[in-house]
Amino acid sequence: MVKPTRTRIVILGSGSPIANPERSGPALAIIVDDRTYIVDSGPGVVRRAAEAAKKYHLQALEPNNLSTAFLTHLHHDHTAGLPDLMLTPWTNDRLKPLTLIGPPGTKQLADGITQAFGEDLRIRLNGLEPANETGWKTRAKDVMPGVMFRDDLVSVEAFLVDHGNWE
Ligand SMILES: [Zn+2]
Repeated sequence: MVKPTRTRIVILGSGSPIANPERSGPALAIIVDDRTYIVDSGPGVVRRAAEAAKKYHLQALEPNNLSTAFLTHLHHDHTAGLPDLMLTPWTNDRLKPLTLIGPPGTKQLADGITQAFGEDLRIRLNGLEPANETGWKTRAKDVMPGVMFRDDLVSVEAFLVDHGNWE
C-alpha cells in the first residue's frame, strides 16, 4: 500500500428525504491524493462534484474521474442520485466502469438501474454520437461488515450501526 500524501473530504450534499432546495442529497467525496472515493449518492451528487471541482480546482472531482463509490445503506435519499453517478460521468468521458460497493441489495439496485436505462444505453452506444463502450458499466458488489475494499491507497471497513429498520 502506498502512503497517501494528502486526504481531503468534500461534503457534496447533506440533505434528507425532505426536498429542501438549499441542500443536495447525502453524498461526500474523500479525495486521497488524486483519487476520489464517493460515499453515498444522493440527488445532485455529480453536479455538486463538478461544482466543487471548479470551485476548489480539484481535478479528482471532475465527473469523468468519479469511478469508485460506496453506499452506507439503501435509503432512497442516499441512492436517488445513483443513475446520475452511474451514467453522467460516462457521458463526460469516464472510461472506467463505476465500482460500486454497498450492503446487500446494492447489486440488485445497480443492475435494475442499468436495465431501466437500457434504451438510453442502446442509443448512446450505437447512435450518431456514440459514447465510449466501457464507462457505462457498473461493477456492483454486496458486502458484509469487515474490510470490504482495498486498493493501493486505502482500505475500507464496513461496520453495523443502528439506523431505523436497516440491519
Ligand atoms: Zn437512512
